[in-house]
Amino acid sequence: MSSSTASLPEILRGEGLPVFESITPTAVSEHIPALIRELEADLSSLEQRLEQILGQGQGLAWQDVMDPLQRLGERLRWSWGVVSHLNGVCNSPELRDAHAAQQAAVVQFGNRAGQSQVIYRALESLHQQSAQLDGTQQRILEAELRDMQLRGVGLSGSEQEAFNAASQELAELSTRFGNQVLDATNGWTLRLSEPDEVQGLPSSLLDQLAQAARQAGEVEATAENGPWLLGLDMPRYAPFMKYSQRRDLRERVYRAHVSRASGIEGSELNNWPLIERILTLRGEQARRLGYGNWAEVSLAAKMADSDSAVEALLEELRVAAYPVAQQELAALRACAARHDAPEASDLRPWDVTFWAEKLRQDSFELDSEALRPYFPLPRVLDGLFALCSRLFGITIEAADGEAPLWHSDVRYFRILEGPDAGAAAGQPLASFYLDPYSRPGSKRGGAWMDECLVRSRAADGRAVLPVAYLICNQSPPVGDTPSLMTFEEVETLFHEFGHGLQHMLTTVERPQAAGINGVEWDAVELPSQFMENWCYDRATLLGMARHWQSGEPLPEQEFAKLQAARTFMGGSATLRQVHFALVDLRLHSRWTPDCGMSPEQLRREIATNTTVLAPIDDDAFLCSFGHIFAGGYAAGYYSYKWAEVLSADAFGAFEDVGLNNEEQIRETGRRFRNTVLSLGGSLDPKQVFEAFRGRQPSSEALIRHSGLVAV
Ligand SMILES: [Zn+2]
Repeated sequence: MSSSTASLPEILRGEGLPVFESITPTAVSEHIPALIRELEADLSSLEQRLEQILGQGQGLAWQDVMDPLQRLGERLRWSWGVVSHLNGVCNSPELRDAHAAQQAAVVQFGNRAGQSQVIYRALESLHQQSAQLDGTQQRILEAELRDMQLRGVGLSGSEQEAFNAASQELAELSTRFGNQVLDATNGWTLRLSEPDEVQGLPSSLLDQLAQAARQAGEVEATAENGPWLLGLDMPRYAPFMKYSQRRDLRERVYRAHVSRASGIEGSELNNWPLIERILTLRGEQARRLGYGNWAEVSLAAKMADSDSAVEALLEELRVAAYPVAQQELAALRACAARHDAPEASDLRPWDVTFWAEKLRQDSFELDSEALRPYFPLPRVLDGLFALCSRLFGITIEAADGEAPLWHSDVRYFRILEGPDAGAAAGQPLASFYLDPYSRPGSKRGGAWMDECLVRSRAADGRAVLPVAYLICNQSPPVGDTPSLMTFEEVETLFHEFGHGLQHMLTTVERPQAAGINGVEWDAVELPSQFMENWCYDRATLLGMARHWQSGEPLPEQEFAKLQAARTFMGGSATLRQVHFALVDLRLHSRWTPDCGMSPEQLRREIATNTTVLAPIDDDAFLCSFGHIFAGGYAAGYYSYKWAEVLSADAFGAFEDVGLNNEEQIRETGRRFRNTVLSLGGSLDPKQVFEAFRGRQPSSEALIRHSGLVAV
């Protein structure tokens, strides 16, 4: 293999902007295995070197261990990052296969580095002399040590064997849990053939149901004449519960949905035993690692200090949301009564979304499709960039043609210091790619921000400026009509741009703590949700929302509807999240096999003051709570609300100074840039927040924004 950089294949270049067209499926299969072999060899020689230094009893320096580790990780991140990126935005069967074939080796390399005993001892040794390190280095080192400890690297002998065996079993149980939810979801269908059984359903849903029937072999099925096949997956379940006028069918579907994978009627798909086993094993793992319970393990790596801090926050939200949720339920009953529905006197869980939709239509008919002409992408970008310039003093300009692209839809932009930065004005800070449109078949759905290049210093001392990928999935332009966005798509763009700003405006030069790196996961949604708030700011929204043909501004009453929709059923929505978060937290902090209660009994106890309609007997929601039993959210579900408190409170700082007090808004915006957007993972998120807000976070703003206070 050649060692000269000039002849390196593009996929292994490891620095600079990738030339995407050279990263082919063939290049992946040809060069990634060699890269991993090389990294493994480099890791082994690093381990040997460290072993030697440790054996001689010499002190270790940052450059001996952290820098080489970072460089190893960065080589993999650069190469594999481009491959994963293309796999998401330019998928093809060949690329998917090439990606899948290397995935396991990539994960394995990460595991090997993360579980290396020698590296762990080297980090511990470095930690003993941490007085010589600056604050950022200390935080990077402590996070690395903690992550390794949580992988069990500090254990030895039979304890480590037991830990590894339990980790293995937990991974299998999670997979089985998820599969059983999937099988139970897919295993239930309801065939509808009479027109009165589909009364009220929108045509988009009828299309879906007829298509499902055709896929099940009823080749004659049409949206108009049926038959229609209903299922429990969200795209069919959610709109059916919202629109079906047949209460008996809603009840049947609801009961089937909430009892999925709970072994009812002798079904083999029964997640109850798995739940107890998973919780028991997690408790044992926590004690092996020196913690009291799994919630402590989860919180060790988060901004929230303790389960009591999380409980306190959830209680504040609960107290605010509960009476509002009760009023909302009363409003649904009243709405049912106005429509002469018999269920008005006895509203059940399967009536709630149906009557909420009716009430929404009665109170304000917001037609999200009709707003599209007011949000052409070029105008929305102008509005977003103008806001960023106003708040953060930066200039964003098109730089099309200056970087290789992966598709002709993609645009390239540059961020510079703005004109009021004195001598620094015009200095380049970062750049980003924007890939806005959906491309069914080759681009993954959803929206995301990802890192292309991370801020750092190259070996020769040059600054490497951050580059972001911003990916959305909105409708493409048609002919002369630009991409016309829904309001939700505008919010999504602002959200992802918030992540991008934290990545791009970082001033931290150690990549392990630059931008979003090293930021605790319950704090990482702060900048993104913060940016969403501006979509509801009158000046920002009405400044950019103009009809793409007539230039007319968004009508005032449409703006009012958007505001109303934001808090509609807000008490119920908040209470629901509090219920889930509290169930998750207490199952991992209080439940033990001998606590005298089943997990379900604990959930029912929590439900007494976190639901306004008690769960029905069949309700076995825990059996499909995949976030915590099949995903990574165990004792972390609260993070959704935690981050919302931070982002709402951060926006509250702008409300406090007055949203039309231009001078104060600029000053507050600059402070947000110099704290939240600059400091990344270099500082404890509580300190970052306090540096911006002058105090610790308060839930007041979120409670107000969610419509949970009387005005
Ligand atoms: Zn996000």
